[in-house]
Amino acid sequence: MTSVLNEPYFSDEASAFERLEQIVWPNGPVCPFCGNMGRMYALKGVRTKPSKKHPEGIVRHGLRKCGECRKQFTARKNTIFEDSPIPLHQWFQAAYLLCASKKGISANQLHRTLGVTLQTAWFMGHRLREAMRAGGMAPLGGGGGIVEIDETVFGKIEGAPKKAGRGRSSFRNVALTLVERGGSARSFHIDGATIAEMKPIIQANVAREAQIMTDEWAAYGEIGREFASHDTVNHGRDEYVRYEGGRPVTTNTVEGFYSIFKRGMKGVYQHCKERHLHRYLAEFDFRYSNRVALGVDDFERTVRALGGIVGKRLAYRDSSAVRF
Ligand SMILES: [Zn+2]
Repeated sequence: MTSVLNEPYFSDEASAFERLEQIVWPNGPVCPFCGNMGRMYALKGVRTKPSKKHPEGIVRHGLRKCGECRKQFTARKNTIFEDSPIPLHQWFQAAYLLCASKKGISANQLHRTLGVTLQTAWFMGHRLREAMRAGGMAPLGGGGGIVEIDETVFGKIEGAPKKAGRGRSSFRNVALTLVERGGSARSFHIDGATIAEMKPIIQANVAREAQIMTDEWAAYGEIGREFASHDTVNHGRDEYVRYEGGRPVTTNTVEGFYSIFKRGMKGVYQHCKERHLHRYLAEFDFRYSNRVALGVDDFERTVRALGGIVGKRLAYRDSSAVRF
């Protein structure tokens, strides 16, 4: 078995562009300005203007000109890589590291491994998390699957008093997670563990025919009535798994997800601003939903994450507080 790091697009810029084109244009190049798929020209040997750092300019890989609207573009257009001065093969390295590390990879580690500045590493991590963010997917538990639902508190919100207590406190971040057994995870950063916050999210993301499983908390009692079935485990009485009609009633799956998430947030990311929390949740959801047990290896997971780079440019602009 050869190392995946030998793939040419991890080190060679021209190969990285070829790979990007396969991802962005699976059916051949499309002009991002006018939608033309017909006549276009590959512009070879074009270089950027000379600069102090690059007196001879840099080769503009993958540059094309549309035969209809005459505009120039590369496959980076409308992706999270657009306008980034970071070479594409380095972006691919970062994507692989982030996708292959179960508990994530810190900006500091990316900075040391890739040799980019810490600020650049931080920016790359967040753009890649954006690519991992799923949008507009079908509800979980369709066809009568089992969906485990739980919420957790962790960290401290900004400005919380030093002595803010542990447990279900208004000073801590709250996440709600839905996990389809044998399937995907979806997590949400919510203001508080209340029916008002949780109900609309669960309604929008879980199919009516799903069998849901939660702990005994009363709020789930009301929410649970809308689904095909609702079973609870009584953690207060130390009950974690119960068998009913041959199927295990438990929330151990979603708790296992939280255990990886919390170890990653504590051990790898350490400090996370509240406004970025949804991106870290998306990252852990993504790796969980594309895990080895579902037949997805590190390499395939990276390919799938890169599949999410297209059309995320608006989010890229909205969320880039720092300029690069
Ligand atoms: Zn065009």
